[in-house]
Amino acid sequence: MTHHPHDAAELHARHQAVLPSWLSLYYERPLELTHGEGRYVWDAEGNRYLDFFGGILTTMTAHALPEVTKAVGEQAGRIIHTSTLYLSRPMIELAERIAALSGIPDARVFFTTSGTEANDAALLLATNHRRSNQILAMRNSYHGRSFSTVGVTGNTSWSPTSLSPLQTLYVHGGVRSRGPYAGLDDRAYIAACVADLEDMLQQAAGGVAALIAEPVQGVGGFTLPPDGLYAAFREVLDRHGILWISDEVQTGWGRTGDHFWGWQAHADNGPPDLLTFAKGIGNGMSIGGVVARADVMNAMPANSISTFGGSPVTMAAGLANLTYLLEHDLQGNARRVGGLLIERLRAVAAGLDVVREVRGRGLMIGVELVHPGTDVPSPEAATQVLEAARERGLLVGKGGQGGAALRIAPPMSLTVAEAEAGAEALAAALRAV
Ligand code: PLP
Repeated sequence: MTHHPHDAAELHARHQAVLPSWLSLYYERPLELTHGEGRYVWDAEGNRYLDFFGGILTTMTAHALPEVTKAVGEQAGRIIHTSTLYLSRPMIELAERIAALSGIPDARVFFTTSGTEANDAALLLATNHRRSNQILAMRNSYHGRSFSTVGVTGNTSWSPTSLSPLQTLYVHGGVRSRGPYAGLDDRAYIAACVADLEDMLQQAAGGVAALIAEPVQGVGGFTLPPDGLYAAFREVLDRHGILWISDEVQTGWGRTGDHFWGWQAHADNGPPDLLTFAKGIGNGMSIGGVVARADVMNAMPANSISTFGGSPVTMAAGLANLTYLLEHDLQGNARRVGGLLIERLRAVAAGLDVVREVRGRGLMIGVELVHPGTDVPSPEAATQVLEAARERGLLVGKGGQGGAALRIAPPMSLTVAEAEAGAEALAAALRAV
């Protein structure tokens, strides 16, 4: 059954009347999506869209993937929830697979229901292990919406309070193309960021518990630090006994193409101490979690539980989704198709002065927009491009300080033909603004 445009307007009014004003909502006439298949979704008016944002990087493999739908249905038919007070086969199996994939030796996995809670747990583990509430975080970062995670979120558009109980020091390195070190070559850039980190540590009175960082900043606009940045940071952290938390909520599972985890582009000197994940692993089902070395994970002095973390239905989805991802080499697909898409978008951008930069890796591509002829970010242009792309049957995301960067992160099964169709629609949308 399709709906009329006035139904959407009425639904929007009801949304505004009952949901918080700060709950981010795209488009002047917000979309009501009713179903999806593959890389496509449909709205209530019957329009089809190529989904270049994959939910919010949540639809990792494909919409309505039969393998995942079947696993969810079968598990729901047996039992939906048991709680972690009892042994759960799907939870143990998924934990085993994630621990093995993480690269962290003697790894333990704690499941949550979101990325926020995963980072919250990681911060709790790190501050407990190091007996310190000082944290290093990256400028322009995003780690969640809870009281502790907003306290390590450097992107001011998304950190509503400075009253967090954590003492946070913000380090350079998350955004390369702007700021005081822009224009430096890789080595000089890394050296400058390391010097900044050392400087921060001098300012820190007493111990610092951890550095939390996204290998590629997600909400921050799909920024791209030079390879090896976090390996260089790691040397400094190790000297001070500081833990490294890699927030892989957006970068995990091969999305960046060249690597399974974002940290692997950086660290030939070993994995992080803690790794957090969420978003794509459940293909839309709410799975988050933290992986940590056993000595860090098991040092918590009291019992804890997440009532819905590791819920059998979500775990069944995660297992089916991960199996599909690995069996179909979607990481390789992200590398190939993502590489092609970046090339296409760079060619499009070359003729347009509204585009400052096309950056990214695999199927995580940022397109930063500016006021033509200037270097001033243009959130207005991004908003207009989103609308123009929608009219052409394409959904993309946005991010960066103020929201001036388009974010492209389709389901990782994107085909070459779909990448080309999407690039064409986006080119038309960019030209229209
Ligand atoms: N960490 C990163 C890197 C994210 O991008 C996000 C969400 O966008 C989060 C954490 C928070 O995840 P959630 O929205 O599932 O709480």
